[in-house]
Amino acid sequence: MSTWAPGSLFLEERVGQAGHRLTGPRLALFRAIARYPEGFTAEELRDQHPSIGRATVYRTIRLLVDLGLVCKIALPEGAPRYVVAGGGHHHHAVCIECGAVKEFRYSTVESVLGELRADVMGQIVGHRIEVYVRCGSCVDQGGRTGLAPVSTP
Ligand SMILES: [Zn+2]
Ligand SMILES: [Zn+2]
Ligand SMILES: [Zn+2]
Repeated sequence: MSTWAPGSLFLEERVGQAGHRLTGPRLALFRAIARYPEGFTAEELRDQHPSIGRATVYRTIRLLVDLGLVCKIALPEGAPRYVVAGGGHHHHAVCIECGAVKEFRYSTVESVLGELRADVMGQIVGHRIEVYVRCGSCVDQGGRTGLAPVSTP
């Protein structure tokens, strides 16, 4: 499990290639996103750029999710978290205490899900798995640490 820390240039390039305008606020948000390799909430992103309107923040996040550049991760409680997608089919482990998100790929999961075919109604067309964890640093600190701090660039 490696931390994939994309730069904002990656988002800029892919969004541009998809034919979307690279406005100033969007570029600023891409740079902010690059500072959260372990995921962010819409509010955390907005706090980085209070001058950018809430609607713009949400629209930009939705655009990135629609383009498959950012994954939306539902939590058992609280606001969904977003994390830049490493590409390809993968799943997420999410820390329920600090919200840190890590991607994982594990082929056994895929083959077990393939065997479900006999037990589910209809044809399986996809799946989504989120594993909820207490991450290493939360276990070490033995308690609630609040949401993940912004990592310094
Ligand atoms: Zn993902
Ligand atoms: Zn944690
Ligand atoms: Zn899978």
